[in-house]
Amino acid sequence: MKPQDNLDSFLDDMELNRTLDSIHHTVVVLSGKGGVGKSTIAANLALSLALAGRRVGILDIDFHGPSIPKLFGLEGRRVETNEKQKLVPLEYAGTLKVMSLGLLLQGRDDAVIWRGPMKMGAIKQLLKDVDWGELDYLVVDSPPGTGDEPLSIVQLIKNISGAVVVTTPQDLSLSDVRRSLRFCEKLQLPVIGVIENMSGFICPHCGESSPIFKTGGGETLASEMGVDFLGRVPIEPDIVLASDSGQPYVYQYGKSQTAKNFENMVAKLLDKVEKDDTDSASIDESAEEKAPKAVAGFCIAVPTQNGDLAMHFGHCEKFMLFEVDRDKKEIRATRTLTPPPHEPGVLPQWLSEQKVDLVLAGGMGVKAQELFRQNGLELIVGVQGGKAEQAVKDFLNGNLQTGDNLCSH
Ligand code: ADP
Repeated sequence: MKPQDNLDSFLDDMELNRTLDSIHHTVVVLSGKGGVGKSTIAANLALSLALAGRRVGILDIDFHGPSIPKLFGLEGRRVETNEKQKLVPLEYAGTLKVMSLGLLLQGRDDAVIWRGPMKMGAIKQLLKDVDWGELDYLVVDSPPGTGDEPLSIVQLIKNISGAVVVTTPQDLSLSDVRRSLRFCEKLQLPVIGVIENMSGFICPHCGESSPIFKTGGGETLASEMGVDFLGRVPIEPDIVLASDSGQPYVYQYGKSQTAKNFENMVAKLLDKVEKDDTDSASIDESAEEKAPKAVAGFCIAVPTQNGDLAMHFGHCEKFMLFEVDRDKKEIRATRTLTPPPHEPGVLPQWLSEQKVDLVLAGGMGVKAQELFRQNGLELIVGVQGGKAEQAVKDFLNGNLQTGDNLCSH
């Protein structure tokens, strides 16, 4: 990595993390193949979550066939930028915030061939640049399959609550869903549950259900794969009409049995996702203390020995903390602190309590690096010795040279 890339990528990551800080839960909607009704389910789930009193946003990251703008009747609408130079999501019925690549790529999609890294870059920028405000849930509608888009989302949003996997009851669709579930397993992405869409047809005249594409396959598969089953949505002609009119089904037919199914699925989702919230309430409080920090500044910590960067951070004498002006790229204030005695996990937590954003270190073992990242701290390792202040200035000027990480523990 070039030295300047260190600074740019750190500032980018910091901005991304700050945007994501105001989103409490992210739910990704996946499907093994196209046409199973994934976007329809994502739109109705998001709206049902909003109707259940949560602050919700829906993000559509489909480069090739974004359908969320159409489902909410927002096609062709302009996305504005606010005074923070962030994109303002569109609002649906005053209850749901909507952002889609389709709103940003209008008229440009056919000329562009999106390759993997470009997609990742565009998704990162989108995540960073949308001003969602405070959200309880962000529902992400990802293209079918296990390609670059869901992978990017999982890599960029560190604490995703989980995935909802949509299938239809036919064997062909079920075998694709197995792949989606394995994808989640590989990426350690929790599965909130499986939804079986187009599960039987309820006759509008007699109310009898006919299993046009069979039913029950999704539930059997979920239990086979050891994941929860959230529920079924039958084939409903009104779903097609509602979607085509730009008013999602649960909004128009709130009293129907199928809308109740959505309500029940959302209740299961909330139960599963929010059951851990009480435990993390104390963590949230400390996050709140951290939040008021000005976006214009950040804090860099350097382990030192007699004012020089200590090559082994665990045995350093002091930590020098540099408050930095992000725009001017200069040091505003310096503090020197004695760290608590070295024990695994103590220093990352202590530095996080000191509201440090980035640590410049010489050598550091892989396990320790993981602990720092788990505490929300960015790290640059392999910084060569010399004055701590000089290392920070070099970093800000884009001249920081890094070499081998001398600690191999
Ligand atoms: P995907 O996102 O999986 O490609 P879509 O959500 O775009 O699928 O749905 C594909 C088509 O199926 C759309 O025309 C949609 O209105 C229709 N559809 C989805 N779910 C149902 C359902 N339960 N009953 C009837 N039609 C449905």
